[in-house]
Amino acid sequence: MSGTPVALVTGAARGIGLATTKRFLAMGWRVAMLDRDAAELAVAAGPLEQVLELPLDVSIPEEVARAVADTLSAFGRIDALVNNAGVADFGPIAETDFARWRTVMATNLDGVFLMSQACIPALSESRGAIVNIASISGLRASTLRVAYGTSKAAVMHLTRQQAVELGEHGIRANCVCPGPVRTKLAMAVHTQAIIDAYHDAIPLNRYGSEDEIAAVIAFLCSKDASYVTGQIVAADGGFEATGIGLPALRG
Ligand code: NAD
Repeated sequence: MSGTPVALVTGAARGIGLATTKRFLAMGWRVAMLDRDAAELAVAAGPLEQVLELPLDVSIPEEVARAVADTLSAFGRIDALVNNAGVADFGPIAETDFARWRTVMATNLDGVFLMSQACIPALSESRGAIVNIASISGLRASTLRVAYGTSKAAVMHLTRQQAVELGEHGIRANCVCPGPVRTKLAMAVHTQAIIDAYHDAIPLNRYGSEDEIAAVIAFLCSKDASYVTGQIVAADGGFEATGIGLPALRG
């Protein structure tokens, strides 16, 4: 195994995944950028150096296997896997039919399981790290998030399973729960009323940025976090810490 460290980032064509890619590049890492949106991936990766484009789907086992094989043949190693690809679908329980439920689970939960499993040999060799992206919607329940919130709560527990079982191979596994960030995913499901409610409920009184989430992800992948595993870190402006009364106290 030789060369500079390599991160495999899923959902890297835009939003938090693209910001995370750029942060790794700034740290001197190489990045395998995986996204099923091949056109958007090509636009995002075009101007970047030291990247590999993987126009693949994390929910399809054969494509997951190809992603890992292609990364290893291009770069020779994998030091960090960032399971960031995700889909959001907000709907009432009664209207969430099995197809909608499975669509959310396929990417948000099956994808994390499949990608992590496929990377174990390479991560064992590098004594690398997994960072899974969950959500504040997995920490606290809210309306309309039966599939999304449940998938993200499962990702948190899957992270602990990975940390406990893979620690003896020297692999660390941690989870980042972002608060709201104005990405395409969030803006498709956040109405103005939801945006206002988030501002009210968040102590820092604002949405986060892609870079603020990427910084936490990169830290957890880095050697600076070499004794941190099995942790769920909310990068959420304090959302998880609050109870009732915050808007009233602000005066
Ligand atoms: P985004 O929609 O901007 O980017 C997600 C990317 O993932 C897209 O490029 C999409 O093509 C890709 N993708 C989706 N399904 C895929 C699949 N099966 N295989 C490969 N690629 C796939 O979203 P984002 O806001 O940057 O979200 C990134 C992660 O952060 C997601 O897991 C999301 O649930 C989580 N998150 C986001 C927010 C937020 O407010 N934006 C809050 C909490 C958690």
